[in-house]
Amino acid sequence: MSEKKKKITTIDELPGVGETTAAKLRDAGYDTLDIIAVSLPAEIAEVAGIGEGTAAKAVIAARDALEMGYETADTVLERRKNIGKITTGSKELDTLLGGGIETMNITEGFGRFGSGKSQLAFQLCVNVQLPKDKGGLEGGALFIDTESTFRPERVSQMAKTLGLDEGTVLKNITIARAHTSDHQVLLVEKATELIKEKNIKLLIIDSLMAGFRSEYVGRGQLAERQQKINKHMHELQKLAEMYNVAIYVTNQVMDRPDMMFGDPTAPVGGNVVAHASGVRMYLRRSKENRRIAKIVDSPHLAEGECVFTVTENGIGDAE
Ligand code: ADP
Ligand code: MG
Repeated sequence: MSEKKKKITTIDELPGVGETTAAKLRDAGYDTLDIIAVSLPAEIAEVAGIGEGTAAKAVIAARDALEMGYETADTVLERRKNIGKITTGSKELDTLLGGGIETMNITEGFGRFGSGKSQLAFQLCVNVQLPKDKGGLEGGALFIDTESTFRPERVSQMAKTLGLDEGTVLKNITIARAHTSDHQVLLVEKATELIKEKNIKLLIIDSLMAGFRSEYVGRGQLAERQQKINKHMHELQKLAEMYNVAIYVTNQVMDRPDMMFGDPTAPVGGNVVAHASGVRMYLRRSKENRRIAKIVDSPHLAEGECVFTVTENGIGDAE
């Protein structure tokens, strides 16, 4: 035991990973220890064409190298005490969400066009900047816009309603326009510096699947698409936990003609997105400016519904 093990710094040095395997991993985008450490052995086994046992060893070695191994429950509890919540602007919706949109987690808002997904995103960009006793986190927002629907004028209007300085509020929101799904993935991968530099406490992707959905159209491309999304979601989860950031992603719905009863819509992205989103919220239009939010299969929130409003003032409650 006298010989000190050399510290692993690149994926080539992982046990069971030779030159060929490393090349395959790189080609598939698994090019850093970070991403290997948060991946599933089965995922690594498949892309690299190695056995699951070998893949598991590589994953564990990557975790060890990054010193993210075992921890006791009290440490986890301690870390989770830092979870912050951002008010949505609606008391009803905050209650439904267990206090607001939380950090260290991914919250997904899915629904049809005009259901209020983007309006909620804008409101959160403003609210995250509020003092803690007003439901904010005194931090900035990073907005990845994939549909060119970000509207600073609307954000200004919301800031004014809250009595905040519009210029300051807009300065604390960094916008990145993603042109393709690859670009979107890259923007998230490069977000680390920005998050630290600008005290980002909220990351938005509006919308998560639009790019992927339009680019990967054939049935034959589905596996590749899901693999990329899986990695993207892992990356988002990692950012959320490492930097205590709240992540809100919007998602589209697809019609399910096979469903004869109930609401025949489902969020896009399949199991990969379903598993990665800690909180899934289905948004739909109701009378006038009312919207209905429904929590769908969340591990720690009760299934339930509430009504909130979208008015000129932003997100609020019905009278
Ligand atoms: P999506 O779910 O497609 O992202 P949005 O969040 O953009 O939908 O919601 C758009 C809807 O929000 C509009 O149809 C309108 O009902 C409401 N809305 C947007 N801006 C305003 C405003 N300034 N005043 C009142 N309602 C607004
Ligand atoms: Mg939208």
